[in-house]
Amino acid sequence: MEKKDAIPAIAGGKPVRDTKIFYGHQYLDEADYKAVLDVLKSDYLTCGPKIGELEEKLCHVTGAKHAVSVSNGTAALHVACLAAGVGPGDEVITTPITFAASANCALYCGARPVFADIDENTYNIDPEQVRAHVTEKTKAVVAVDYTGQSTNLKELRKICDEYGLVLITDGAHSIGTTYDGKPTGSIADMTTFSFHPVKTVTSGEGGAVMTDSDEYYQRLALFGKHGITRDPALMSKEPDGPWYYEQIELGYNYRMTDIQAALLISQLDKLDMFRARRKEIVRRYDEAFSQIPQIRVQQELPESDTTRHLYILRIRPEMLKIDRKGMFEALAAENICCNVHYIPVYYFPYYQKLGYRKGLCPKAEKLYEEILSLPLYYAMSDQDVEDVIEAVRRICAYYAK
Ligand SMILES: *Cc1c(COP(=O)(O)O)cnc(C)c1O
Repeated sequence: MEKKDAIPAIAGGKPVRDTKIFYGHQYLDEADYKAVLDVLKSDYLTCGPKIGELEEKLCHVTGAKHAVSVSNGTAALHVACLAAGVGPGDEVITTPITFAASANCALYCGARPVFADIDENTYNIDPEQVRAHVTEKTKAVVAVDYTGQSTNLKELRKICDEYGLVLITDGAHSIGTTYDGKPTGSIADMTTFSFHPVKTVTSGEGGAVMTDSDEYYQRLALFGKHGITRDPALMSKEPDGPWYYEQIELGYNYRMTDIQAALLISQLDKLDMFRARRKEIVRRYDEAFSQIPQIRVQQELPESDTTRHLYILRIRPEMLKIDRKGMFEALAAENICCNVHYIPVYYFPYYQKLGYRKGLCPKAEKLYEEILSLPLYYAMSDQDVEDVIEAVRRICAYYAK
């Protein structure tokens, strides 16, 4: 039988590959191992010189004036909201197609997340939907660079300026992406990153907030370090002596360790390499899937030069005899282990208990029914990529309506 007509494994054929491949995987090399080992042998496991070095490097990579490293991307979102002054009674607008942390950060501050629907082509928050949800309680917008693609920052900036809102970008997916030629991290009022191992660069766990504002920078540093300051200008009392510090806000211990910082510094040396390979894989996927009528390819804003964290396979259910779950299971039978990003945040029981109901964001809900995330990471071989394509092609051909 012709290879292109092969029967999918789930229907009794032979799988396209014998070994499992996953949707994401970190890539570490000898330089990474050495960087970590050097810290382990040094005087400072935390609060040492690697933190400043990392923050400087993040500023260099993104073009932002300030960086504050924190323990993870969720902590980054939390301190960004605190620095923005988000508090009880406020509203924060975000997208439902994200990891729960993009909305939880508002809840942490006693504010209410408000979900605005997505653009059905880019899958990012639709600026007009943001505008439609602004009230006098709205304090900030958390715009997520879903899959790595930049949001429509020009429109979002306009809306935020018009209503006096703080624009926060959740850039957990988008380090390495540029918008209008400017890197993610240098555009919104604050941009948060996550360095979890599935993201483009990793520190094991880790996060950062980037900003050009001196005022936000000061507040970010304060909230991430117990609300404690050693700056006499911020103190209400004359220092008792050189040991003296004051706690002036209720902050948190969200510090990153030097072990993590050293790993991330070394990972950032490979960002260009990671970016190039991810873009290459995305190009190959896009090219192949645009030939398959049962698949919809994610569209990109011309302004976004994207380093993709996720590759979304979106099916056209009206053209297939199987649904997304069927596709997911058929790919698993081919040894291609996908994931789904994301279940709309307000579907979760916790959010349902808070009074959110299905139907809030119809485009996001439709997207959720049709998507899964294919393997996409630096260390994938060309053969891995071709296996994924072949599997999708076989399944679509076999189950085409
Ligand atoms: C990963 C992720 C986060 C949270 O990052 P952690 O480092 O895991 O806390 C937040 N938002 C989005 C969109 C993410 O993908």
